[in-house]
Order: sequence, then structure tokens, then C-alpha cells
Amino acid sequence: MSSVARQLIVFDFDWSMADQDTDRWVLEVLAPDLRRKMKDLKDDVQWTDLVAQSLREAHERGITREQIENALQIMPFHPAMARGVTNLKAGGKTTFLCLSNSNSIFISTILKDKKLTTLFHEIITNPAEWEESGLLNLRRRVDPAGPQHSCDVGCSPNMCKGEELEAFLARHAVDFDRIVYVGDGSNDYCPVLRLRSQDLVLCRNFRGLSKRISKQGGLKCKVKYWSGAWEVEEIFATL
Ligand SMILES: [Mg+2]
Ligand SMILES: [Zn+2]
Repeated sequence: MSSVARQLIVFDFDWSMADQDTDRWVLEVLAPDLRRKMKDLKDDVQWTDLVAQSLREAHERGITREQIENALQIMPFHPAMARGVTNLKAGGKTTFLCLSNSNSIFISTILKDKKLTTLFHEIITNPAEWEESGLLNLRRRVDPAGPQHSCDVGCSPNMCKGEELEAFLARHAVDFDRIVYVGDGSNDYCPVLRLRSQDLVLCRNFRGLSKRISKQGGLKCKVKYWSGAWEVEEIFATL
């Protein structure tokens, strides 16, 4: 890739920056029966509400904040990803944005453990906070009682990452010479559709985003596919 003066790297979190899915992992480690229940209910209950409900049930059965934090700290996270983003950030011309449908506590707990607390300029995700009792209280980013997003690309009710990305760009009024989007999921398709010809998507193989790209097409940006974080590190070294 050619060199640019200013670039924005947009990261999805689950299965993109991290090598697992935070919402599912925490329950797989601490309460597999709740993980099963979540799988059974996922077509009937909005996802963030379902995770919030699972966290309440976990709390009621005595699962502690320390246990949840520990589960997040041992979640697969490739050293090459930590190295790749750290080296790119040190180059001084790259701004990092996180766009995730996980939540602020899961993400910040992992970033702290990986010594990446200062990586992101902004983390756009569902808000969560620890209560005194040790309950992790999670809410949707978009209040279900208020106006919802207006996207018709097929984004889930709670979050349109395309609209979130455009709002970020408008807030910052910086002209990035290049945007590089790292993602894997079907909800990463909408923001990627909005990228320009000088932009790039690093799409993880064999998951929702790669399926939508091959089925629906319509991208103006360049596409590079990857399977392991070491390949993202390799690409980052050329940016
Ligand atoms: Mg993902
Ligand atoms: Zn959308």
C-alpha cells in the first residue's frame, strides 16, 4: 500500500481485534447453560437485551465481577494483533476508532489487560457499568424507546455501524487520506459499503462479512482477506 499522511483505522472488536466473541465467551467460561439459553433465545430477544439479561442471571447465581474480569483476560487475543496496532500507532499518523456491538466494560477490561488502554481515540459501543453489588449493568446504545437508526442495508435495530462511522467522521472534521476497516461480521458490511476507492477493508475469511461481500458486492473500496492476526500485522506494516 502507498504511504499517506493521515489515516483512520476502524476496528470491529469481536473476532476482529480479539480472537473470540466477548458476549458468548464470558458465558461459555462461567455459565454454559446460560450460553445455551442465549443461543435458544437469540431469534426472539434483541441481542444486547439478551446479554444484559444473562448478566443479571449470572449475578443472581453468585458469579462475581472478578470472575467476569478473569474470563475476559484469558479470552484469546493474538499477540500479533497487539504488536501490529502498537507499531502502527507509534508511527504517529494513524487514528484508531473502535465500532463494536459488545460493551464498554468488556472492551476496556481486555484493552487494559493487553496494555492498549490508550489505543483508541473513541470506542463506540453499548454502555455498561459495574454496580456496587457486582452486577454488570448493560444497556443498548440506541434507547429502544427513542428514535432508531434509519438504515436499510439490513443493520440490527440497536446499531448501524455505517451511520456511526459517518457521525464520527462528521464530528471530527478531519480529512483522512485513507480509512482502513478491520471487520468480520455481517454488521460490518454497512460501514464498508460507505468506504471510498482509496480506502481498504481487511475482511476476515469465512465469516458474515466475507459472505455478504461475495453475495451482495457493491463495494467501492479495496478488499484484502485475512485469517490470522499475523496477516493483519503484516498488512499494517505496509501502511
Ligand atoms: Mg466481529
Ligand atoms: Zn446500516
